[in-house]
Amino acid sequence: MREKLHVLNHPLAASFLSDIRDQHASRAVVRHRIRALALMLFYEATRDLPQQNVKVTTPLTETDGTRVGGTVGLVPILRAGLGMVDGILEVIPDARVFHLGVFRDEKTLEPVEYYSKLTQHSPVDRAFILDPMLATGGSACHAATTLKNWGVKQIKYLGLFGAPEGIKKLSDAHPDVEIYLGAVDSHLNDRGYIVPGMGDAGDRQFSGE
Ligand code: URA
Repeated sequence: MREKLHVLNHPLAASFLSDIRDQHASRAVVRHRIRALALMLFYEATRDLPQQNVKVTTPLTETDGTRVGGTVGLVPILRAGLGMVDGILEVIPDARVFHLGVFRDEKTLEPVEYYSKLTQHSPVDRAFILDPMLATGGSACHAATTLKNWGVKQIKYLGLFGAPEGIKKLSDAHPDVEIYLGAVDSHLNDRGYIVPGMGDAGDRQFSGE
């Protein structure tokens, strides 16, 4: 697939994804692994963050160092994307978080926005859409369009599992949006779920058995 698609390639990531796929994994395990994987994805997706040169004085001498610049926005898609926020905030605690509520109409599988907390003008240089499941791609496309209309210059998508259908839809509609995934799965079933996937990512984290 195209070079704008990046898939985690790390033994820990593979192990965590297997944990999440397991239907018997506890909610605590699912939450922990999603948090950890989101951070891994964020590290991958921020290799191009701007750096500012700074002078640092160690106990021994002055030396050259860097600090990251730019303003970062995290855009979790409710509700499953919520579990990807906290791990990332540990490394970039002053990031802005803008929640977007998008659900999939079960009949049409089209995205319907029911919540948006965007300010009038975008205060961020770059935004990361957080949604564990890139399934049909409808919500991701909707989020990317919303963020572009809001004025965000650089948008990246971070997810755990992607179906070829969703990857294609997002890539075709927004070729500039880089996609970072834990794994590319086989296909969507007739209800729009990713196979093998992890089932309902919201239920698995928040309200399932
Ligand atoms: N949303 C989910 O929670 N799981 C899927 O497999 C697809 C969409």
